[in-house]
Amino acid sequence: MKRRLYMKEEKAIVVFSGGQDSTTCLFWAKERFKEVETVTFDYGQRHKLEIECATEIAKKLDVKHHILDMSLLHQLAPNALTREDIEISEGNEDNLPNTFVPGRNLLFLSFAGILAKQVGAKHLVTGVSETDYSGYPDCRDNFIQSLNLSLNLAMDEDMTIHTPLMWLDKKQVWELSDELGVLEIIREETLTCYNGIKSDGCGECPACKLRNNGLRQYLDSKGEK
Ligand SMILES: [Zn+2]
Repeated sequence: MKRRLYMKEEKAIVVFSGGQDSTTCLFWAKERFKEVETVTFDYGQRHKLEIECATEIAKKLDVKHHILDMSLLHQLAPNALTREDIEISEGNEDNLPNTFVPGRNLLFLSFAGILAKQVGAKHLVTGVSETDYSGYPDCRDNFIQSLNLSLNLAMDEDMTIHTPLMWLDKKQVWELSDELGVLEIIREETLTCYNGIKSDGCGECPACKLRNNGLRQYLDSKGEK
């Protein structure tokens, strides 16, 4: 309890995409910190809808919303480097889009850390998880701990990176949003779908399937109690 009161006095930056996970993190952070700001990374047209959705949610919750231009990522994307040979695809054998840039989360979290320093925030909150996305090495707990140390060494800081979803599966993320009293808001207002459809989405893409299966599992388990 003491720890929580102590944390309340400080400011946090939430890495925020307007999706289920980061919006759950935003509500989680609002419970714990005196002041919360959000940061969204803009890295291309496909993500315009996500950014609009994030902007809307930030406005509703009355939290400051920083949008950082990360269009430089295109210069590093595999399809840009060999654009004559490779068509843009939604996924390859690893199930990652070929526009995916390895180390992307390393970049995003580093920029978020620098932003945090600039605005006097001691805490960074990110919705990364090992449970559903183990394909991304820079979403794993050991990387986050390593980056936390590096950021503090780089800026002579005493910052903490929080990952409230690290060990949760999708069902448990829904459960957390219910505990925070915001399950319906998360369900209605967030965008996870690859086809850009808010709320329950298209129902067909991998992101929708993961999200909706988790929701069904959680609602079923709740009904049994
Ligand atoms: Zn979908």
